[in-house]
Order: sequence, then C-alpha cells, then structure tokens
Amino acid sequence: MGKVIAVTSGKGGTGKSTLAVNCGMALSLLKNRVLLIDTDAGLRALDIMLGISDRVVYDLADILSGRCEPAKAIVKTPWGRLSLLPAPVVEDECDSAEALSELCKQLRQCFDFIFLDSPAGMGKWARAAAAAADQAILVVTPDPVCIRDADRMAGHVLSRHVDDIRLVINRVQPNILRKKLDGGLDVIIDAASVQLIGIVPEDRQISLAAYDGKPVVQTLHTRGGAAEAYCNIARRLCGEDVPLMDI
Ligand code: ADP
Ligand code: MG
Repeated sequence: MGKVIAVTSGKGGTGKSTLAVNCGMALSLLKNRVLLIDTDAGLRALDIMLGISDRVVYDLADILSGRCEPAKAIVKTPWGRLSLLPAPVVEDECDSAEALSELCKQLRQCFDFIFLDSPAGMGKWARAAAAAADQAILVVTPDPVCIRDADRMAGHVLSRHVDDIRLVINRVQPNILRKKLDGGLDVIIDAASVQLIGIVPEDRQISLAAYDGKPVVQTLHTRGGAAEAYCNIARRLCGEDVPLMDI
C-alpha cells in the first residue's frame, strides 16, 4: 500500500512543486512507483515542469466528477516510474474532498508514493489534499514572513487535517542566514515545532531546469546543491537514516 504525501505551505512560491517533482523523481530512481497529483487548479505547473504539457488530455477534475477513469488521465513521464495526474484547467472550487480521498485510497494500491502538490494556503483544494494524505510536508523559506507562517500552519491550520507533519526549509543561503537570522535555522524549526525532514540550498540549477522541463534530479549520485538535498529527502521518506547536508 502506497503512502500519500501532501506538499503544502501557507505562503506562495516556497518551492512546493519543485520539491514534489524532484523528490518524486528521486523516489522513482530508488525504484518506487510514484504518482504526482497536481491539485493547484488553474495554475497547473507540474506538466510544464515535467515537459509533458502537450500530452495532457484529461485531468483531476475529469476523474473526480466521474467523466473518465484514472488510468486514462494519468500521464507517464519520460522517466519510467514517475507519472502525473494533471491539475484541473479551471480554477474551480473543490467540492469533492471525499472524492479525492477515495481516489487516493484506490491509487495507493498501484503506487508506492503519491504526492499531492497543493496550492498555497488552506483553501478547499489544500484542505482536501491534507485530509487525503498520511503525511504533510510543509515547505518554508528562511524569511520572517515564512517563520510566522511555519508557526501558524504547523501549529494550527494544517494540524486540523493531518497528524504527521514534516518540515522542509528551502532556498537556504548560509551567508544571508548568518548575517540576518539570529539563531539560524533553529528559529524556524522551533516556530514550526515539527520534525525537520530536509534542508534545501538556494540553487541556480533549479531555475535552469524549469526552462528545460525536466527535474534537476537526474541521478542519485549528484553531490552538492538542491539535487542532493532532494535525494536525501527521498531516502528519508523511505525510512533511511540520512544525515543533514552540510550547506
Ligand atoms: P510553489 O509550488 O510553492 O509555488 P515553486 O516550486 O513553483 O513554488 O517555486 C517557486 C520559484 O522558486 C520557482 O521559480 C523555482 O524555480 C524557485 N525555486 C524553488 N526552489 C528553489 C531552490 N532551492 N533554489 C532556487 N530556486 C528555487
Ligand atoms: Mg506550485
């Protein structure tokens, strides 16, 4: 039975979709069958990030409303074990939280990991994703607004929907942290009060990969940078004890 993980944040643009794509890729390289479900209706980032937008015919809304079977809407990526269920085209209100949970229950028989890439905040789609998940990954960046957000999201908002919450601190730049954040990353970890599952450095390769429409993770052997950080998070999700990267 596969595990369902919602990738969430309070603030927008913290790196949720980038994490879903790259941890998904790393898990597939670790020989897991992985499904990314894009619940960011209207925006639909994942098909572009995976370079497969021209192959999208059906989407999540088609399945939830019973217009098509899941197998018809799921698109295989060029990377064997990694598949995508694209987001609805229209930014419609999600009134099918139960249908999403039911769908995940069904799909977890066919996949080892299912990532629900959520919109920022706790709107209907984000709540539905959290409620359908076994675990939530809260992605924050090390800035003052995000620190407040980590406290609010992990402590109050997200915990209403899912018990198991892990923290990822993304876009870490040690020089800036040293100068600007007394107490460093511990301040963020304390604010969130949930277990840290990874630290990802700021990495120019991420922006470049976005133009190419492919994950920055291409092998499990990249050393340094965000790719290694995503591989480490994937290994931790598989239960491996991997030390935190020295950034
Ligand atoms: P979200 O899904 O939370 O809105 P995205 O994954 O779309 O966020 O990322 C927002 C922007 O930040 C994108 O331009 C992405 O390339 C960039 N980004 C994300 N993570 C990193 C990183 N570790 N280093 C550099 N840029 C990053
Ligand atoms: Mg996104």
